[in-house]
Amino acid sequence: MTHNLPKPPESDPAWAWFLDVDGTLIDIAPTPSAVNIPQQLPPLLARLSQCHGGALAVVSGRSLDNLRLLLTPFDPPAAGLHGLECRDAGGGVVRAAAPPGLDDIRTRLTRTMEECPGLLLEDKGLALALHFRQAPEREETARRAVAAAVADHPGFTVLAGKMVFEIKPAGVNKGSAIRSFMTQPPFSRRRPVFVGDDVTDEDGFIAANDLGGLSVLVGPPRDTAAMFRLDDIESCRVWLALAAGTVWNSQMGEGAD
Ligand SMILES: [Mg+2]
Repeated sequence: MTHNLPKPPESDPAWAWFLDVDGTLIDIAPTPSAVNIPQQLPPLLARLSQCHGGALAVVSGRSLDNLRLLLTPFDPPAAGLHGLECRDAGGGVVRAAAPPGLDDIRTRLTRTMEECPGLLLEDKGLALALHFRQAPEREETARRAVAAAVADHPGFTVLAGKMVFEIKPAGVNKGSAIRSFMTQPPFSRRRPVFVGDDVTDEDGFIAANDLGGLSVLVGPPRDTAAMFRLDDIESCRVWLALAAGTVWNSQMGEGAD
């Protein structure tokens, strides 16, 4: 509930890094597939990981496959789909089981998308996302359609993100993913630091706080469990570069090569 949050402190070699991607490391694009990755971002993350004994994981609403494509050639441990699928440091993948009802929800929301131009239903396998970034005036329509679609399926929950409603199995979130990583090497016995931007990152902030770590909100002040705040994505990249013993060069441009 704090508004005037301080900037995060200088990094420590004993930290374990957990990083959200969209809105934290990269700009949010009009559609999830249209992102532009600055070419120096994957090597920066690889270097940051190296400086911290390999204890860096990305924690995202994207799928593991999608994250791998996005960050290539860097391929860190990752939690995808808000923690529904996790790849550990050894490459082992654990996926949550989908509760019954996903097909029904998908069918209903596909109909909604067809009836409402501008709404985009993204099928993530174990989860769905109804985006209204292209039609912000349809937020209420999207909210009602999602609420109606999940009403009969108590195994699912809705997360209201930035211009998107995420529909996912209940009980698993970014916080549970971070807690799980922290029981395993190379994360265990380190101090977790979670950096995120969205309300869907609040579970991650709470987990990092509970584990004696640090939580960093990227973006404008708002009600949050985070302890620290950085103004924007660029400030976040600069801070991470400093922690990796290097300098972020914004002059290199987005996605140029
Ligand atoms: Mg985000």
